[in-house]
Amino acid sequence: MAELQTRVKTLHKLLNQYSYEYYVQDNPSVPDSEYDKLLHELIDIEAEHPELRSPDSPTVRVGGSAQSTFEKVAHDTPMLSLGNAFNEEDLRKFDQRIRDLIGPVEYMCELKIDGLAVSLKYENGRFVQGLTRGDGTIGEDITENLRTIHAIPLKINDTRTFEVRGEAYMPRQSFINLNEEKEKNDEQPFANPRNAAAGSLRQLDSKLAAKRKLSVFLYSVNDFTQFNAVTQSEALDELDELGFKTNHERQRVETIDEVLQYIEKWTAQREDLPYDIDGIVIKVNAIDQQDELGFTQKSPRWAIAYKFPAEEVITKLKDIELSIGRTGVVTPTAVLEPVKVAGTTVSRASLHNEDLIHEKDIRIGDSVIIKKAGDIIPEVIKSVIDRRPEDATVYHMPTHCPSCDHELVRIEGEVALRCINPKCQAQLVEGMIHFVSRQAMNIDGLGTKIIQQLYENEKIKDVADIFYLTAEDLLPLERMGEKKVNNLLTAIENAKSNSLEQLLFGLGIRHLGVKASRVIAEKYGSIDKLFEVTEEEFTSIHDIGHKLAQSVVTYLENEDIRALIDKLKAKNVNMLYKGVKVSEVEGHPEFNDKTIVLTGKLQQMTRSEASKWLENHGAKVTSSVTKSTDLVIAGEDAGSKLTKAEKFGTEVWSEEEFMNKQKEIEG
Ligand code: NAD
Repeated sequence: MAELQTRVKTLHKLLNQYSYEYYVQDNPSVPDSEYDKLLHELIDIEAEHPELRSPDSPTVRVGGSAQSTFEKVAHDTPMLSLGNAFNEEDLRKFDQRIRDLIGPVEYMCELKIDGLAVSLKYENGRFVQGLTRGDGTIGEDITENLRTIHAIPLKINDTRTFEVRGEAYMPRQSFINLNEEKEKNDEQPFANPRNAAAGSLRQLDSKLAAKRKLSVFLYSVNDFTQFNAVTQSEALDELDELGFKTNHERQRVETIDEVLQYIEKWTAQREDLPYDIDGIVIKVNAIDQQDELGFTQKSPRWAIAYKFPAEEVITKLKDIELSIGRTGVVTPTAVLEPVKVAGTTVSRASLHNEDLIHEKDIRIGDSVIIKKAGDIIPEVIKSVIDRRPEDATVYHMPTHCPSCDHELVRIEGEVALRCINPKCQAQLVEGMIHFVSRQAMNIDGLGTKIIQQLYENEKIKDVADIFYLTAEDLLPLERMGEKKVNNLLTAIENAKSNSLEQLLFGLGIRHLGVKASRVIAEKYGSIDKLFEVTEEEFTSIHDIGHKLAQSVVTYLENEDIRALIDKLKAKNVNMLYKGVKVSEVEGHPEFNDKTIVLTGKLQQMTRSEASKWLENHGAKVTSSVTKSTDLVIAGEDAGSKLTKAEKFGTEVWSEEEFMNKQKEIEG
């Protein structure tokens, strides 16, 4: 028990500190997920041991105390917080509880705008007072600053005295502009739009607040008796009519399954909004049912906030390991205590280079904040200095390659360290992994583990050796059966007839990507022709720059490379371009000159196969949807591109429609 008491004390201390940093200083030191985790730990302890619950517990407090610089004003009715749901189970429990208490219900689903709550008072048609939420009972009078927000009407055509409540926020574009400005002036940028909005509204000089380009969405009225509305949705419509800005993505639904669909939709589309949302608020729609359900000390029983999976979490940096890419770049990689971020478990993240590690003062042993927004690769944002253990160690990059022990060099103008030993094992293995990859020679079944073993057993020393492999070489490898060996040998045999661009890309010539490989292969037709091309000739091709031309020529001049090509030729690896020449593509009237975007997961063919097919039929395949896109082909889980297409009114086909069209054309 004494232990638990100490834990409760610690939790009070931490939560109060974080609340102060978040609500008063607008400068949190830990991510929201950390605050939520600690708060829920405290809620659980208090539920099991009510005797440990004190009246000033952070579990019953709303927000932070009002700051002294602004006049403090008591709210007519408290401004409360919301209960949280983090998953489907929480939401179903909420729904069940409501239905058990009051029977059938209808819900309003609204976006949870990530800003700060404000309450606006109107008297005789004029905006007279605006308050922050403060501690829920007493707020700060920020009327002058709120007057600078254009979305808040200063005059309305209604003489009643009433209060409307909503969320003041900073649109993403204003946030980007503000932080750019701050960086230019060598000032500390804001961590996110919420903090920026809160910080701006607490500016004592309202001229400064005016520059910050804030906005507001109103989402409730304080006293429904003054309004005609009998439901939340009617109240919002009434606010619209009075000239207030409400959020129009709201939706009235009847079942919890529809709530879940609404959540799913906005989880996929939130990045496309011009403002941040951190969840979805679900409210019982009928006001009389809301009244029946009432409030707890901290929040209404008739509403709940679903929070999106955390995109920022804290975890421990256990170590820093090095990885060596096929071009010799040595990258420090964070080895992390595995942690769930935005729905997936993360245990490694790139730290990019040593300069960045020192700039961010990241040390081994630190608690670090990891961020993963949407589909983006996880990133280490910063260390939590408060939690730095005494034995945390400063990291230094080695001077020699961890794989071959060759001295590492820093090429002028680059931050990265590089191993320039062409015989470095790690680089060679990475190069082979690239060679067999899908867009290169596409040898299915030859994975990293197999390549590593073959290399270590000295069965392959360069990429050409892959074509010399025999069943005897492969059978002794781990988890290799006869069937697997046969499949692999067939895949290798098939790869021999790949078109030249695949081979070129697979060789890993610096700066030579998939597209340029194809351009070169198509123009010159064979590897032998390529050997004769000069740098000047290459640069005369539209898509080929000077750096790339130089890199290709230097590569092909190398004697070792010529020997490698001969070794490949000896095994009948195709050295000719076999694709259709763009100039010869007759195309198909349906696709000729059409700009097409592929999005989402395709089931029946890979994206690159689909692109090739479309290009061979005269279309141009691009990666982003714009006004001039003619067609979007959407597979499963198509996200923002599909939304954009819908916005522009672009024609959209499902994969099935696309497949049917192919069948129709090919007969
Ligand atoms: P909350 O954010 O969970 O929800 C309540 C708030 O949602 C309301 O006050 C309102 O401002 C807002 N809201 C937005 N759209 C709304 C809508 N359509 N209808 C109704 N309300 C809407 O509660 P809270 O008490 O404001 O804050 C808790 C949050 O603050 C948590 O996410 C917590 O992680 C974070 N926090 C973080 C730290 C930190 O150190 N990082 C510290 C304290 C709190």
